[in-house]
Amino acid sequence: MDVFKPAEPILTRLIEAGYEAYIVGGSVRDYLLGRPINDIDIATSARPEDVSALFSQVIPVGIEHGTVIVRHDHTSFEVTTLREETTYSDRRHPDKVNFVTDVTKDLARRDFTMNAIALTQMDALIDPFGGQVDINHKRIRAVGNPAARFNEDPLRMLRAIRFSSQLGFAIEQKTKTALTESLALIDHVSIERIHVELDKFFQGVYLHEALMLEETEQLLLRLPFFKEFTTVMDDLKRVKRAFHSLIDALVYIGFRHQNTALKSVYEAYRLSNVQKREANMLYTSLTCYQSQQPLPLIAYHLTPQLYHRFTDLADRLFDETLSLEDLTKIHQQLPIHSKQDIALSGNDVMQLFPERKRGRWIGHILDQLEEKIITGELPNQREQLKEWVIWSYPIEKKSFNY
Ligand code: ATP
Ligand code: MG
Repeated sequence: MDVFKPAEPILTRLIEAGYEAYIVGGSVRDYLLGRPINDIDIATSARPEDVSALFSQVIPVGIEHGTVIVRHDHTSFEVTTLREETTYSDRRHPDKVNFVTDVTKDLARRDFTMNAIALTQMDALIDPFGGQVDINHKRIRAVGNPAARFNEDPLRMLRAIRFSSQLGFAIEQKTKTALTESLALIDHVSIERIHVELDKFFQGVYLHEALMLEETEQLLLRLPFFKEFTTVMDDLKRVKRAFHSLIDALVYIGFRHQNTALKSVYEAYRLSNVQKREANMLYTSLTCYQSQQPLPLIAYHLTPQLYHRFTDLADRLFDETLSLEDLTKIHQQLPIHSKQDIALSGNDVMQLFPERKRGRWIGHILDQLEEKIITGELPNQREQLKEWVIWSYPIEKKSFNY
């Protein structure tokens, strides 16, 4: 099967060394669904140290859980030793990981039947829990007893709704009942794990359908930020298409509720500094747009890489909006793209006022020039800028004293 070709050398190496090796997890599911596959995960009877010895490029990411990343031809493969998991007393990590040789045991620890199918090198499917039937019926069904499985790892509840958002599948009845009865357990799950699943949830093609599910509402309303707003679900039910990411969804909700305490949300979801910056830029640009600031100013201050996310959010939030093409055109027509492009430098400004000491006033003048050039009030021409500065800041002006 062509899509799995990149994994071929890894499987062959393991099998020739006398071990069992299978392709498992999401890539098998997506292949059966005819969807493009993401990362190819491999399960093997080889122990992590054996895997490490067999390949030249390995990254030991989770040896104690049996996972080694093998690099081959610029691609990474997660190679995990077949294992079963014992009790989860902290509802986060299994108390003990037992390596096993039976692939069925490994499949039994997986969350849903569609994710518990193994593919052999000979293209045979090992599907002990009826995963293919569930895939054909578009059903998300827990492997084994759903209540016990959610109790072991409550993140699986959120995974169920993220798969329904990604795949448009329905949650099978018993799984759904167990989920509804186990909701409170989500409080035990770390925010980092929740972040990963929520991010995929908000990017799902079937997001709208998933947001209409009762179990989605019940689960979301237990999560940080979402639980703070009584009307958050009304806003979310209006959402008709996928977000770029969880961050954009947070900005959208924050904006709808005029929530200025976004900082605490960023902390709650442990956003990286880059993500915080993106969220702030998007939020600020939306505020400027709402208060009808000149579009060139928005185009100037917003990083072009965020234009599509900004226009997407603006489209959701305001009636009359601007397209990505329009914003890009405005960007192309900007007279300057940074302060460095201003035809008058800080030194030039200082020379206009030789008796003044260096200070914040220089930056203040440059800020004004910048804005006036962008909005077209002033041409970006040295002599005209000089004239404007002299005219606006006569020497005796007291306002210089800051
Ligand atoms: P995606 O294509 O979005 O990556 P995925 O199914 O590959 O989806 P991963 O989170 O990458 O999801 O997990 C890989 C596999 O590991 C899953 O298909 C499933 O078999 C198993 N798995 C992951 N998380 C859990 C969990 N919390 N409980 C049980 N099994 C899990
Ligand atoms: Mg995966």
